Amino acid sequence: MINSDKMTKVLVLGARFGGLTSAYTLKRLVGNKADIKVINNSRFSYFRPALPHVAVGVLEEKDVRVDLATALPSKGIQFQQGTVEKIDASSGLVYYTKPDGSKAEEDYDYLIIALGAHLGLELVKGWETYGYSVCEIDYALKLREALANFKGGTIAIGSGYFYQGKNPKPKVPEYYVPVADAACEGPVFELSLMLTGYFKKKGLLNNVKFVVFSPGEYLSDLSSTSRKIVRDMYRQMGIELVDNFRIKEIREHEIVDESGKTIKADLTILIPPYTGNPALKNSTKDLVDDGGFVPTDMNMVSIKYENIYAVGDANAITIPKLGYLAVKTGNVAAQHLANRLGVSTKIDTYYPTIICVADNPFEGFGVAVKDDTWYKGNTSLAIPSPLNHLKKELFTKYFMWTKGDMALEKFLASW
Ligand SMILES: Cc1cc2nc3c(=O)[nH]c(=O)nc-3n(C[C@H](O)[C@H](O)[C@H](O)COP(=O)(O)OP(=O)(O)OC[C@H]3O[C@@H](n4cnc5c(N)ncnc54)[C@H](O)[C@@H]3O)c2cc1C
Repeated sequence: MINSDKMTKVLVLGARFGGLTSAYTLKRLVGNKADIKVINNSRFSYFRPALPHVAVGVLEEKDVRVDLATALPSKGIQFQQGTVEKIDASSGLVYYTKPDGSKAEEDYDYLIIALGAHLGLELVKGWETYGYSVCEIDYALKLREALANFKGGTIAIGSGYFYQGKNPKPKVPEYYVPVADAACEGPVFELSLMLTGYFKKKGLLNNVKFVVFSPGEYLSDLSSTSRKIVRDMYRQMGIELVDNFRIKEIREHEIVDESGKTIKADLTILIPPYTGNPALKNSTKDLVDDGGFVPTDMNMVSIKYENIYAVGDANAITIPKLGYLAVKTGNVAAQHLANRLGVSTKIDTYYPTIICVADNPFEGFGVAVKDDTWYKGNTSLAIPSPLNHLKKELFTKYFMWTKGDMALEKFLASW
């Protein structure tokens, strides 16, 4: 129940694409009609699509890092660093731990959950000793060192299995939420292009063999035509593709899948298995589905709690787990909430589309993908072009310039 004596309080959990888009858009729309506070476990937010660029040394950590403690207050949004432990949706409380280890709780009138998914690296044996990734800044920096020292051998690149929730279902058309084996294979494709360029530039390409593996059919979120183009491309590049490989273990010189099949690998780069965020799995049971993701309606409102929204990777409807969809859902949630706060605003209609750019900065081209065939649409584009490399550079600069405010994203995406 909203308390009319005090300012409406909106709490946003998480501060990457989903959380930042919701917070900035809502602030822009409602101004002083609400207190907006963001809680994030780190003081810094990183531009994830450019973490592969940090791993190959074309960008530095400082080029992709936003300081939330200054960026958000400068736009009139409060920031609290803290790790969310759980949400009690029935009593409207969020429990979290502050950086000094003290426990705290926070109430809200409206809650926007943007905690993302969990990178389930604990599900892959040997990860700590032999595994590499690019999904967080520390992983990208560790991979950078390994690549710099890699003189030859086999590099395996692939995704872990996606532990998608099944029930209860979100209130959106069923075909908007396909069943996926992998949560996000765009970075795998991008790395396969980028590392080819990286080793070519170093004069070591002849010493390196690439194997790309997928827990299902590789890039199954794209049309069969685009998939065939990628297969042909890999054949020409000498990249081996292994489908239906659900990775279970990384060893020193091989990886093993659930059926015991092995692939030789001297260096393994993994987009981890995705599971529901532990803080959400720990929350009021009927807030989440059986995978730990929040089922919502088309306005990103929880199907059980009308004052709770979920956006981005934490929402059950975003398949695959894509920054573009996190921004879309963040906008819709902010617009819907603005109307409830008395500011009449057009609410975008959520329609899933896969839009991303796989970049190869070493050879100055990127492949721009736009595909909605997974959702019964008929757009299927995969266009390699130098312009698409520039697009990714512009996208990174834009994010940094606005400190994560993707207000112009709709123009960038349709460009
Ligand atoms: C390597 C890589 C490259 C990618 N490239 C692209 C691309 O080019 N284009 C594209 O569209 N998509 C891309 N994606 C996907 C995209 O990055 C994600 O879909 C997007 O980041 C999801 O945003 P989000 O805000 O929903 O969740 P997240 O990005 O996961 O953000 C969640 C936020 O919540 C915080 N958090 C998590 N748990 C807690 C907790 N318990 N307490 C407090 N805070 C917490 C996290 O620190 C983070 O700040 C890429 C993904 C990866 C891994």
